[in-house]
Amino acid sequence: MIVMKFGGSSVESAAAIARVAEIVRARLDQKPVVVVSAMGKTTNGLLAAAELAADGQREAAQTALDTLEQFTLREADGSLRGFIELHFQELGAFLDELTQIGDFPDQYVDLISSYGERLSSKIVAVAFEKLGMPSVHVDAREVLITDRRHTQAAPLYPRTYAKCQSILKPLAELGKVVVLGGFIGSTQDGFTTTLGRGGSDFSASIFGAGIGASEIQIWTDVDGMLTCDPRILPGGHRVKLISFAEAAELAYFGAKVLHPATVVPAVEKNIPVLILNSRNPASPGTRIVAETVASANVVKSIACKRGITLVNIQSLRMLMAHGFLHKIFETFNRFETPVDMVSTSEVSVSLTIDMTENLEAIVAELSKFAEVSVERELSIICLVGEGIKKTPGVAARAFGAVRTTNLHMISQGASLLNLSMVVEDRELPAAVAALHAEFFATLDERVFE
Ligand code: ASP
Ligand code: MG
Repeated sequence: MIVMKFGGSSVESAAAIARVAEIVRARLDQKPVVVVSAMGKTTNGLLAAAELAADGQREAAQTALDTLEQFTLREADGSLRGFIELHFQELGAFLDELTQIGDFPDQYVDLISSYGERLSSKIVAVAFEKLGMPSVHVDAREVLITDRRHTQAAPLYPRTYAKCQSILKPLAELGKVVVLGGFIGSTQDGFTTTLGRGGSDFSASIFGAGIGASEIQIWTDVDGMLTCDPRILPGGHRVKLISFAEAAELAYFGAKVLHPATVVPAVEKNIPVLILNSRNPASPGTRIVAETVASANVVKSIACKRGITLVNIQSLRMLMAHGFLHKIFETFNRFETPVDMVSTSEVSVSLTIDMTENLEAIVAELSKFAEVSVERELSIICLVGEGIKKTPGVAARAFGAVRTTNLHMISQGASLLNLSMVVEDRELPAAVAALHAEFFATLDERVFE
């Protein structure tokens, strides 16, 4: 058994779904369980309509919903007309409720956004049947059981895995292609939940772990992971093989190829995760494996995160006092602002954030006990590779490559498999190019292509 996950752009139209069907057909002997996202930009569309309704703009909300319904009807098999219309009627009723409440509570966010995957999974299952592949649709909410944290629910693993064993596995063993939606689940008492935006990869990984799949395939629209972000530096090389630890680090630093949480259930069950391209299925993609990947290149990939803000906090009064760091982090926590990189000295702390909505309030709070300065328009460059911890001279090579760049902060993560530096946004492309030239001048063919 394998799990094959297809994202929104891979199922954005009837034609795209037909391409997916051929990719699945070529792997029928591996007993695929197929996990799909909502079609195209459906999730955004549903949320936008709901926000309008909650804002009292019921008519505009209906127009947005109608547009989505027309799109869905156009791309789905004609036999699903009644099914689709019924679902959009239900959605219309929820919009009425939102207009009455005048608010968009998280339970409704989950309930309404769940329709994207509920529809797409049914549409894909029916399309497969029409194309001559015996398939069966499963409502993912009956399998993926979660806690009650709406919009950010966490799976209850033992229960979910038991459902995978009792529902998904027997169907896949029967030789039917099982199709279910990603992203959505339900609480034990039946309330619809979601795993958070982009959560379909996570679902695929959970289902894969639950059925004991031999492989989890994440089908995207890129040829896998690259040695650098193509939006910043074109011409990077494909990384054929990478470890879970390295992939997680890259995902965290914004390599948009997979959701960071994806790898967790896969790692625990030691199931390889493949990143593949549904527009170029012949490409072998990137294989993410549990064990360390030996490579002559110490760095596997260079990740970047733009739009970073650096906050410097200094306090002579707090010199050596305990509780200083606690006070700082407590403030960021209270304003729900995640902190990425941290670097400390005896009298100062520097940290980076990428969410700045509450920055003013945070600075005001911190200024009660420290001097605070803020630097904006920065980027993090992160070199990732398990070789970094074992190989002497990596830092010297990295800093040598960017010697003309003004570095605002540096950090070697506790995991020792990343080396990060903060640079000015405008210096980012040149710095990445210099680092890429330094670390990828020659390639270990076992790992790169
Ligand atoms: N449809 C959901 C989203 O757009 C989940 C996913 O695509 O992974 O966030
Ligand atoms: Mg996605």
